[in-house]
Amino acid sequence: MSRFKFKVSNCLYYLAMFIMLSAPASAQWHRLPFQTMGTQAYVELWAEDDNLGKDLLIAVQNEFERINQQMSPYIASSELSLLNRDAASRPVTVSSELYQLLQQAEQLAKLSDGAFDISFASVGFSYDYRQHIKPSAEQLDTQRPLINYRHIKLLPDNQVKFAKAGVKIDLGGIAKGHAVEQAVGLLAKAGIKHALVTAGGDTRLLGDKHGRPWLVAIKHPRKNADIVAQLPLTDSAISTSGDYERFFIEDGVRYHHILDPKSGQSPSGLMSVTVIGPDATATDALSTTLFVMGLKRGMAFIEQQAGFEAIFISSEHQLYFSSGLAQ
Ligand code: ADP
Ligand code: MG
Repeated sequence: MSRFKFKVSNCLYYLAMFIMLSAPASAQWHRLPFQTMGTQAYVELWAEDDNLGKDLLIAVQNEFERINQQMSPYIASSELSLLNRDAASRPVTVSSELYQLLQQAEQLAKLSDGAFDISFASVGFSYDYRQHIKPSAEQLDTQRPLINYRHIKLLPDNQVKFAKAGVKIDLGGIAKGHAVEQAVGLLAKAGIKHALVTAGGDTRLLGDKHGRPWLVAIKHPRKNADIVAQLPLTDSAISTSGDYERFFIEDGVRYHHILDPKSGQSPSGLMSVTVIGPDATATDALSTTLFVMGLKRGMAFIEQQAGFEAIFISSEHQLYFSSGLAQ
């Protein structure tokens, strides 16, 4: 009798094990906040398989770090640092990934008549927002002519040459969007259908949030914890550029991290610009571009870009929507 009982319970045990193992492995949300590229990043994804979900969180984090090592101006061995060190004296061969990003930056520089220009860094390197340091009038005079995307020669075979000594580039206006886009590409390739990847002001959504849209908030540009709008989005990218991320105020002037290439100084008419579109590399670069252009020029410009919309917040706290959102 007791032997029989033992067998039944054993059977039940194995049956339960079998059900657990053969059930469609616990599908669930996986989430990971992490620091990268000098900012807070976050990934959230829906995975049918628990182990795959966990592995992909780490893969996303690694992807960001890989791009950081390649494009950071603070890492002496990065490809970007190498360019800034050597490209004025000789052609430097870079990875095709960086070369393609430089091509994209050049394309937008031409399209925006130089409002977006990664050589802003020729002056940008003289600012230190944490230490409240800005270039002197003399420094500005000598450095400003070095800002010109035409000084960056994209030669055949992934070679890059700067036309003048003193030219510096920085990808702060586009690299995070690129990393976000790469991360989402990696997830899509692994079969993920629902995910959100965000870093600083750049967010990319893959699919929806399992039956409902993702909600992406636009921060209040002056009240840190507040939001001014929440947008329901699926399968798209959204980037915000603001004058409140890195700045200092001196004699009533706000010196912030976006520079008008024409003046070498921070534009003042807007507090933030948000761009919505199909991919994060483009929305990242465009939000910076529109910030430089200002409301009037920026609005006219974004109306010409099919598939992109924008929300401007003026220094007078007024919200302006492009026509696709205003309807
Ligand atoms: P965040 O880095 O906070 O996401 P943005 O996407 O608006 O903000 O990018 C701002 C960064 O873009 C600056 O920190 C700087 O690295 C870079 N940048 C500033 N001015 C320009 C410009 N005129 N053209 C291209 N890049 C710029
Ligand atoms: Mg940007």
